[in-house]
Amino acid sequence: NTQVLMKQHPKGAVTEQDFEIVQRDIPKPGPDQVLVRNVYLSLDPYMRGRMDAVRSYAAHLNPGDMMGGGTVGLVIESNVEKLPVGTYVNGMLGWQEYAVAKANELRVLDPKVAPVSTALGVLGMPGCTAHYGLMSIGEPKAGETVVVSAASGAVGSVVGQIAKIKGCRVVGIAGGKDKCDYVVNELGFDACIDYKAGDMQAAFKAATPNRVDVYFENVGGDIMEMVFGRLNAFSRVAICGLISGYDGKPQAFTGMRHILVNRAKVQGFIISEHMGYWPGAIGEMAGWIKAGKLKYREDIAEGLTSAPKAFLGLLTGKNFGKQLVRVSPE
Ligand code: NDP
Repeated sequence: NTQVLMKQHPKGAVTEQDFEIVQRDIPKPGPDQVLVRNVYLSLDPYMRGRMDAVRSYAAHLNPGDMMGGGTVGLVIESNVEKLPVGTYVNGMLGWQEYAVAKANELRVLDPKVAPVSTALGVLGMPGCTAHYGLMSIGEPKAGETVVVSAASGAVGSVVGQIAKIKGCRVVGIAGGKDKCDYVVNELGFDACIDYKAGDMQAAFKAATPNRVDVYFENVGGDIMEMVFGRLNAFSRVAICGLISGYDGKPQAFTGMRHILVNRAKVQGFIISEHMGYWPGAIGEMAGWIKAGKLKYREDIAEGLTSAPKAFLGLLTGKNFGKQLVRVSPE
């Protein structure tokens, strides 16, 4: 059973040397347990936060701990009647090939609804994050301007498409021409600002003639400062993530004045604290996928041992779409 451990806390930016790949015995399922062969591992930005020994909303890893993470896998041995061999499941089974789990730790997947990999993306944690943050905190109204950063990514791509479904003007911010072209031409956003090209401020101003009513924040840093400078009165900001500051670069923020003078609502959230929201959001998004209104893109790294490198890539924008690792064949 190949596993990926955190060898040491990163000093500054994470490197491949901060991980260790080990071989362990394949576990035996006990009573009320199943043995799962992981097929896809999800790589997510929050995993970087878990690697630092600091207080957060969840416990951090210690050296020698296995990297945690969501997976989709196949039940290959079962002591649970309702989870027969051959069932596809989603759980927090970590960076490893095989895991044992109980039924209440697993979500059963129906491959007929959508490809099972989507349980880690658009029909899973990132999709629910987008739906919850936009609808519950952003409260978009038709005709308003919605802005989302990391717009081509797992969360951002869903935020913008839902905002379009709700009748908003949607402006994305992403790194590079390819990602921006995809966001506008494939996903149907009204505009996308390439923050790596030219005068980002001027391009953003031109793309938001009516300023910004809803901002879904994924990155922080200069991009956040810029968007706060164009907030409207009574705008809403969902603080979902601050990825530009995760990898050893803590950030300052100077935009408080914009919150005050615009009487803006700014709220952070953690999607795992809103599990009751998931089934409804997933059901609605599955319907939009079927209707062709919601598109998604995956970026799949091959083999569990490629996970550390792919994870470093996620933190520097090398991924294009939801970053997954294929651990074993479907
Ligand atoms: P993505 O698929 O969007 O991948 C991460 C993207 O972030 C990269 O592709 C890159 O896009 C962008 N990025 C990386 N570094 C920087 C940087 N220095 N400056 C600007 N952009 C950068 O990841 P997710 O959709 O999974 O996550 C997006 C955000 O949502 C993250 O901040 C994450 O922590 C947060 N999140 C929060 C949750 C919650 O419960 N609050 C739950 C899930 C996610 P580009 O090339 O365009 O720069």
